[in-house]
Amino acid sequence: MSANVSFATFETSYGTRIHRIPLEAFPNFWAYVYVVMKDDLRVLIDCGSGTDSSHENLLSGLQQAGLQPEDLTHILLTHAHIDHYGGLPKLKPMTNAKIGIHELDLQTIAHHEARVALIGRRLASFLADTGLAKETRDQLLSIYRFTKAIYQPVPIDFTYDAIDMHLDSFEMIHLPGHCPGHVAIRLDDVIFCGDMVVEGVTPHLHPETISPYNGLDHYLESLIRFQAWAKDARLIFNGHDDVITDLPSRIEATRQNLIRRMSKALDALSEPLAIAEVCTAVYGEAGGYNQLLVIEKTGAYIEFFYEHGIVEITNTDEVDQGLPARYRRLREIADEEILPKQRNAVVE
Ligand SMILES: [Zn+2]
Ligand SMILES: [Zn+2]
Repeated sequence: MSANVSFATFETSYGTRIHRIPLEAFPNFWAYVYVVMKDDLRVLIDCGSGTDSSHENLLSGLQQAGLQPEDLTHILLTHAHIDHYGGLPKLKPMTNAKIGIHELDLQTIAHHEARVALIGRRLASFLADTGLAKETRDQLLSIYRFTKAIYQPVPIDFTYDAIDMHLDSFEMIHLPGHCPGHVAIRLDDVIFCGDMVVEGVTPHLHPETISPYNGLDHYLESLIRFQAWAKDARLIFNGHDDVITDLPSRIEATRQNLIRRMSKALDALSEPLAIAEVCTAVYGEAGGYNQLLVIEKTGAYIEFFYEHGIVEITNTDEVDQGLPARYRRLREIADEEILPKQRNAVVE
């Protein structure tokens, strides 16, 4: 993702028009939202972060598409990360569009403070088990809680489960892992995949101990199902990068990135280490928001290693006393554990 982003218009093979709108969601962090003109429907897919720049970019992008917010009939969210739903509080008063989300992400949108309080507590418990210093943990927790200051809860009109994963000719598939309620949305021969597959990097992952349906197991499973479900799609639109035309090779690149990171983590675990030490070995020193991201990712890798019997905990007595667990490698990862194409793909 770069600042070299642009408004663009596409068409599906059935003649449905799609406008891509770039938003500066946070300083130097860009996101794409999409407006789909399907018969009488005017559907906005994701809505940016709600910062002043994001909101202004959204309004001018809609205008460029020949629309006002009041023309929108639906707002479909791919998942409940702030750069995708944070625009709702400013947009909602300007439109009667019906807002949809997967039910596993409903609490974040509609009951935000309680969700942040609950997940914040679980995050605090995870961070305490990483071995990071108390001061650092407190900094990371306050970074996690920053959305409370910028987001006001917005009621949801429907969940995708309640409409049987279909809205008119839009079809949704649940792809948990990057976010519990993450979906991809298909129309004609194009797909909107949110952050499921993004360029050059592995999507962010949290351990599932922080919230159910997060984590690497769900993500790997979702990659398989996504590839099978998307197989004849021509264009894959995502939340931050250019349109994807060759999904299998992008998924393969994502897997290779994961393998690289996880192998590095596993290499470090030839001696017993706490999660924070593994994180430094894999990602080097990080600070601020980036530190929160990399410690969560590392936690997701180690959770996967532990659950699959790839590492063991070496300091039982200390863990009993509430000290951070130290992990040590028991074996290498077998390729098929990370290469979903070799598993049996089951499509819902
Ligand atoms: Zn995301
Ligand atoms: Zn995103």
